[in-house]
Amino acid sequence: MPHVITQSCCSDGSCVYACPVNCIHPSPDEPGFATAEMLFIDPVACVDCGACVSACPVGAISPDTRLEPKQLPFVELNAAFYPKREGKLPPTSKLAPVLEAPRIERGDGPLRVAIVGSGPAAMYAADELLTQRGVEVNVFEKLPTPYGLVRAGVAPDHQTTKRVTSLFDKITSERGFGFYLNVEVGNHVSHADLLTHHHAVLYAVGASTDRRLDVEGMGMAGSGTATEFVAWFNGHPDQASLPVDLSHERVVVVGNGNVALDVARILTTDPDALAGTDIADHALTVLRGSAVREVVIVARRRPADSAFTLPELIGLTATHEVVLDAADHELVREDLAEASDPLVKGKLEILAKLGDAAAPSDRPRIRLAYRLTPQRLLGRERVEGMAFTVTGTDEVRTLPAGLVLTSIGYRGTPIRDLPFDETTGTVPNDDGRVTGAPGTYVAGWIKRGPTGFIGTNKSCAAQTVRELVADFNAGVLPGPTARSGELDRLVRRRQPALVDVAGWRAIDSAEVARGGTERPRAKFTVVDEMLEAAATAPRAPLHQRLLSGLLR
Ligand code: NAP
Repeated sequence: MPHVITQSCCSDGSCVYACPVNCIHPSPDEPGFATAEMLFIDPVACVDCGACVSACPVGAISPDTRLEPKQLPFVELNAAFYPKREGKLPPTSKLAPVLEAPRIERGDGPLRVAIVGSGPAAMYAADELLTQRGVEVNVFEKLPTPYGLVRAGVAPDHQTTKRVTSLFDKITSERGFGFYLNVEVGNHVSHADLLTHHHAVLYAVGASTDRRLDVEGMGMAGSGTATEFVAWFNGHPDQASLPVDLSHERVVVVGNGNVALDVARILTTDPDALAGTDIADHALTVLRGSAVREVVIVARRRPADSAFTLPELIGLTATHEVVLDAADHELVREDLAEASDPLVKGKLEILAKLGDAAAPSDRPRIRLAYRLTPQRLLGRERVEGMAFTVTGTDEVRTLPAGLVLTSIGYRGTPIRDLPFDETTGTVPNDDGRVTGAPGTYVAGWIKRGPTGFIGTNKSCAAQTVRELVADFNAGVLPGPTARSGELDRLVRRRQPALVDVAGWRAIDSAEVARGGTERPRAKFTVVDEMLEAAATAPRAPLHQRLLSGLLR
């Protein structure tokens, strides 16, 4: 009865170190770790102790006897990562080699770090820093709610993935941690302010916008981007009033990465099933009135080049009707004959078994379409469809649609006072040290570009923190010039409506209470409502506030 890792794997590697027999790979020290689509348990070496189950922050691991039918393909997927062997390996006491944690070697006062952003890269960086005693971390976030794309990006039907927020909540309780939510760096406080109060500033601000498709008609009513649409259904306050019209039968999504699959799934899932999630109320109302019967996910290249990952494709096809037309089935057959990479082959084998788009359907469905290069949007006042050419030819194809969403990747935006690489949409850096900006570091998508999974940010943040601590130990970070406690006074003066850890807990509890017994939470989607909830947080007694001001 080996254990099995399923689709919701976040790849942060926590399970690897919990395993007493080192049977989960690739481990963070192995070359394939950074690019792996998920981690895999070796069924022949697994001793069924269940240690990995408790360590996994997103509930992605189960014994193979407890899998839901839709998870059964993951038994084979885990096993296929390893060479075929018979029977069981004798148990060993081998452990995965633990990557060395950064060690602070100076004893002259605490290391103070400001982290800008509060998504996974920020929270993993805070955790890594706080493994040492005598470190203070202040996390700045412009929204009153933390956790970045885990809150506003992960699709609401992937609730297990969102469970990683319990881990992040634990980090907020660590000694030395402080939240400055609803505080915008560059507005309420500057980079220079942060350097005055800290040894270092670490930006983990992600990629806050999207790559734009430069074709005629984009911007017309009925066109938009997947990033806006995802933020809308996830209740991000900036997109709460996005006009989403689903009064037509077809939606076209351009690009076929995992975000495109998320968008297509939400548009074709029975709203009653979404009603038990934390989807924004406004999105549920619109989806309940939806007339959409088909979402076409359009890729410019061939099936073998599909950007979505194999675990996500397995998950999607287990729950949704996904079809291909006859010409695309032919492309899949051709690619399958050539494929050697096991993950690509795995995707093609699933695509080959999908139904034919010509067959009638009695529920909303998803169609994957290939080799179509976007040319322009059709329509005058509002979108009526999209024109493509068959990639590499002049042959034009059109798809009638009432909504066209581009899903061609996220993109980082420049940070005031820091260098920026326009080509990659990242801040130029060397293992996280920002080029030409002493005391400044980056982690996550703003460091390496918008790729990977939640847990990829753990090793990314750890690398940055190692460099930061090495610089601190080497004495090249000038200490803060302001006295401890002054930061809090400065920020409160500039932004009296700042939300701290207690304020976030109050918002969190209020959302969970609003969700009742049917939903994990009902999100606030308006900043003022969040602030009202934060204001109900009990204030710490005066002596405690004074003490924490002195200690921080
Ligand atoms: P992505 O995986 O980079 O996919 C981008 C897609 O856009 C590709 O199909 C790409 O095609 C296409 N594209 C780019 N430029 C185009 C153009 N000018 N015209 C037409 N198509 C174009 O991006 P993403 O879906 O935004 O995902 C970002 C990251 O988040 C990925 O690492 C993803 O795995 C991760 N993510 C993971 C999950 C999950 O694990 N559940 C969920 C969401 C996101 P080409 O390949 O031809 O360039």
